[in-house]
Amino acid sequence: MNKVPESLLAELRLQQGFDEIAFLQAHQQSPNTSIRLNPKKKISEFENEKKIAWYENGFYLKERPSFTYDPLFHAGCYYVQEASSMFLEFVLKQSVDLLQSLKVLDLCAAPGGKSTLIASLLNENSLLVSNEVIKNRATILKENITKWGSENVLVTNNDPKHFERLENYFDVLVIDAPCSGSGLFRKEPEYLNEWNDNLVNLCSQRQQRILADVWKCLKPNGVLIYSTCSFSESENEAIADWMIDELQAENISFNVPTEWNIVSTESKKYKAKGFRFYPHLLQGEGFFCCAMRKQNDAFEKPRLKKSKQKTSSINKAILNNWLKDADKYEFQPKNEFIIAQPKSLIDEMEFISSQLNVIKSGICVGQLTHKDLIPDHELALSTMLSDSIQKAELSYEQAIQYLKKEDIKDFSFDKTGWTLMQYQNQNLGWAKVLPNRLNNYYPMNGRILK
Ligand code: SAM
Repeated sequence: MNKVPESLLAELRLQQGFDEIAFLQAHQQSPNTSIRLNPKKKISEFENEKKIAWYENGFYLKERPSFTYDPLFHAGCYYVQEASSMFLEFVLKQSVDLLQSLKVLDLCAAPGGKSTLIASLLNENSLLVSNEVIKNRATILKENITKWGSENVLVTNNDPKHFERLENYFDVLVIDAPCSGSGLFRKEPEYLNEWNDNLVNLCSQRQQRILADVWKCLKPNGVLIYSTCSFSESENEAIADWMIDELQAENISFNVPTEWNIVSTESKKYKAKGFRFYPHLLQGEGFFCCAMRKQNDAFEKPRLKKSKQKTSSINKAILNNWLKDADKYEFQPKNEFIIAQPKSLIDEMEFISSQLNVIKSGICVGQLTHKDLIPDHELALSTMLSDSIQKAELSYEQAIQYLKKEDIKDFSFDKTGWTLMQYQNQNLGWAKVLPNRLNNYYPMNGRILK
């Protein structure tokens, strides 16, 4: 690996107790590989691996396997995520009452690490809006949310400025800001080639712009969780000071178990508490996180009128055959597809759809023909399917053939019709079994290419 830039080291040396030798040694070592389990798709594959201290469902792997060739990865049973980032769960639990029905915005969400973590924490009456400004990254985000299978998530592709339209709307904002990336030098060495002081300044300016743009959409008393994977003070503690100065935000302080070796920091001006992850002190990459509250003096503007629910002529009898609890959902036609949205969230989902560029809303169930449903891939990966759906268990080799969208060798099945292709009882997607062949409906854009 190239050398850690001297001007970054010069800044870090000013921090109390900074151990430069250990920091540089850690940068000569390979990064950790870690995964986070999906609590709704239980597997035993990683149960003997080492646990991550600050996240119950997270594990370090001894070596990096080929995730592409693990069908359980494609089934959304786990997410490959850097361990330090999983600290978000602890911060959320310390600063927000997760038993409430919450509206949460994950503003800089692609590829979906934080969003899938948040989705697993929220109760079924809470809504997560998972946003990504860059279009092709928003598509990847949508795919990862689909794999995770959560129903109460909207994926949007909007600029932070557009969220001004949702004034005083969200209970929680998660801003995992684009940054100079010094915390990821080991994992993504290309950051090292691009890093310079000017980039840090540009990132700091951009972080302020993003925060200023979305601050309006946070409710009074709402919580903003800010994070970066940078070691630079001007992208971290100085941003906390900036939020206090410019947005009159209030810092939320809490303690972290000392044995985790996470460094608690204080900002220069207001002593706002933040948390730093250093790769020489713990098993994880560089990360910073702090939590802020919007003070309760803001004028609460009335929300736009709720949209009137459309009555649709969708044939629910057909859907009852496919879904575990069809009564829990409102079904909306969208182009030629049927979208299922939890009834408890329908007003919010409709409202947001009228304000933002929504690219995924609830679960796409499929296309209704006059007699049946052509099921969508989103439905296969959701957790709303009826247990009586026809299933076929594939061997490892067959699962890979299915995921490559190839013919499945030696497939024998005594029934015909729409069938869930499973590996170790986990859903991979759909196939239509005909008397003497099988049509593979795995989505073209998600197939294994190698
Ligand atoms: N939260 C993600 C996760 O856990 O998987 C990682 C987010 S990454 C650190 C920052 C994201 O911010 C990127 O997806 C990037 O495309 C997006 N981004 C870049 N410029 C932005 C801007 N001006 N406003 C909002 N988001 C931006």
